[in-house]
Amino acid sequence: MNLIDGKKAAAYFSDELAANLLMFKDKTGVTPHLAAILVGQSGPSETYVAAKMEACHKIGFLSSLIRFDASISEEDLIAKIKLMNADNDLHGFIVQLPLPAHISVESVIESIDPEKDVDGFHPINLGRMAKGQKAFASATPWGIIKLLKHYNIETEGKHVVVLGRSQIVGLPISLLLSRNSNPGNATVTICHSKTKDLKNITLQADILVAALGIPEFVKSDMVKEGVIVIDVGISRIIDETKKSGFRLVGDVDFKSVGPKCAAITPVPGGVGPMTIIALMENTLMAAQNQWEASKKN
Ligand code: NAP
Repeated sequence: MNLIDGKKAAAYFSDELAANLLMFKDKTGVTPHLAAILVGQSGPSETYVAAKMEACHKIGFLSSLIRFDASISEEDLIAKIKLMNADNDLHGFIVQLPLPAHISVESVIESIDPEKDVDGFHPINLGRMAKGQKAFASATPWGIIKLLKHYNIETEGKHVVVLGRSQIVGLPISLLLSRNSNPGNATVTICHSKTKDLKNITLQADILVAALGIPEFVKSDMVKEGVIVIDVGISRIIDETKKSGFRLVGDVDFKSVGPKCAAITPVPGGVGPMTIIALMENTLMAAQNQWEASKKN
């Protein structure tokens, strides 16, 4: 079994990104600026946002963290987003999900200027990506694509089974892997909570992408020998042997599934670090696009 080490790959891409950033700064005098909006206080969201802000600092981007109380109204949040859309010193921003139940995620995402939507969640970016046009591809799926390429994992003609059809992971990774590109050209089956006889389908997977959000859902009897597993899930489960009282696990039971795999991503240290790299890449692209547009005006 080979480990698809997202942490190692992210370190490689981080150096590449820092070199591209330096060239962009030399040419334009502009430092890309990423902001994150965090609503309420949730342990996992705090951790994810902190990692994104730290990556900005490490690579040389400007970063801002904008916090709101969980009681903020949808109207006030969208008003702030509109101000951020108009702020020329800000090149890209994200709204960390999940949001409190009284706020519509769809309305919030649609209020983000697609040119600053570096998470790639806006319908315009999802649509452009689906059509193979230039777009901010959703950060997690794009991170997976980069990881597959970095590890020379062949996807052409392979049967990829994706567990989950969310708009931020399952759907976009299915689109990216089925398009006529490399990585891509796979035959993709999308599974969801209404899929019948799931095990029969997962057993056919050459590559299995697990993005359900159910800790250690995929067991060894659900995969064939030699499968490649991309585990997107991140959940906290109670572990009293840890100082924190919990540990992170994926959607795949790594212990039992790992030995059957040709290659597998660990959790943590697999897909997560690559999501951050993709986000940074999108932010640099946003700054480049906005600088070019400003030269035309
Ligand atoms: P989500 O929006 O909750 O979507 C989960 C998907 O799984 C849904 O499509 C759901 O089907 C499907 N599903 C649920 N139970 C199922 C079952 N028993 N069999 C088959 N499909 C089932 O989750 P998400 O936002 O895509 O996130 C998925 C996981 O990835 C979470 O653990 C999340 O924390 C993690 N994540 C990690 C990163 C990273 O950077 N590593 C980034 C994003 C998310 P229905 O559509 O029918 O409900």
